[in-house]
Amino acid sequence: MTPDAVKPKVVQAVDRLADELEALSHRIHETPELCFKEERAHAWLTDLLEAHGAKVERGVGSLPTAFRATIEGGGPGPTIAILAEYDALPGLGHACGHNVIATAGAGAGAALALALGRLPFAGRIQVIGTPAEEGGAGKVKLLEAGVFQGVDAAMMIHGRCGTQVWRPTLGIIKVKAEFHGKATHASSWPWRGVNALNAVIQLFVALDQMRQQLRPDARLHGIIVKGGEQPNIIPEYTRADFYLRSLDKSYLQELLRRFGSCAEGAAAATGCRVEVTAEPTIHEPMKPNRTLAELFEQNLAFIDFPVDPDDGEAGYGSTDCGNVSQALPTIHPYIRISPDGVPGHSREFAEWARSPLARAGLVAGAKALALTALDLLAMPEKLAAARAEFGR
Ligand SMILES: [Zn+2]
Ligand SMILES: [Zn+2]
Repeated sequence: MTPDAVKPKVVQAVDRLADELEALSHRIHETPELCFKEERAHAWLTDLLEAHGAKVERGVGSLPTAFRATIEGGGPGPTIAILAEYDALPGLGHACGHNVIATAGAGAGAALALALGRLPFAGRIQVIGTPAEEGGAGKVKLLEAGVFQGVDAAMMIHGRCGTQVWRPTLGIIKVKAEFHGKATHASSWPWRGVNALNAVIQLFVALDQMRQQLRPDARLHGIIVKGGEQPNIIPEYTRADFYLRSLDKSYLQELLRRFGSCAEGAAAATGCRVEVTAEPTIHEPMKPNRTLAELFEQNLAFIDFPVDPDDGEAGYGSTDCGNVSQALPTIHPYIRISPDGVPGHSREFAEWARSPLARAGLVAGAKALALTALDLLAMPEKLAAARAEFGR
């Protein structure tokens, strides 16, 4: 059987589920939950998948808010994973539109189960619920726990101000600098103190100067987490957290080395002691897979959903999906859920994440994910090509 014989049924099933999916997307949007605490979204998404016939496992990979929903096919064969994210941002709610990712991914699985029951091809399709994209690197934890073992290819969509099947993402090293000085009265004995706030300020200045000599894809940005207690005490302890980003993994290590030199310099200039600590988990850049991306794009054409040229106005973000893409063939296409030029992680984007454009993106995303996953089961040569391109 060719996938074309069943595709119209799957498309119709997404259309039948569209009101339910949009209502769930809005409910998740109205109930923003931070990384690893996505209990209600986890319950609603798993209930949806179960109600439509998928076999659901809750709390996989030792993460209580992760899940795996399986739609079985006819006998042994490959496993294709569709990923769903559902965490929100502190203070901003669903300003990254993960409510749309969640319901597009779960909607794809629910529609496949509803339309086909058992898949008419060998293998299986799984919806993997991946918590904590914004700061918790949930997918790295699931990779380490073996949840992706036996998965042959993975895919997800992400909302954006335009539809682009391929955009690079940057790797990240997260690092903190802690400065230790000496407290004293800021007015009566200032010369007896060692000012740890000055060291943090020096570090920001040094990094801003270093920026001129960095490659254009590099990004350094930080916040002062601890800047002192009150103005009449010379700060004895300060801390600043930074993300160092680049398209290239080895350049990330170079950035970390140079960050360390800047921190040492700031400490020397102010008489402080510094500790630099990099988090062991590194976000990896997305490894492209043209074979999978082309299939996805063909399915967007099949459902008449337009792809937009990249206007080049924006730089790149990062995702823990990059780590998945370094472990197995993976795509992370962007689907339009806002007008041009609306940045992610903004209050404006949070509003668009529950708009009619978001509904259109959700429905198109669910369809294209379901159809692309079916293609990979129905056409083993395409999966073989994706694996060959990946290099395994
Ligand atoms: Zn985000
Ligand atoms: Zn996101």
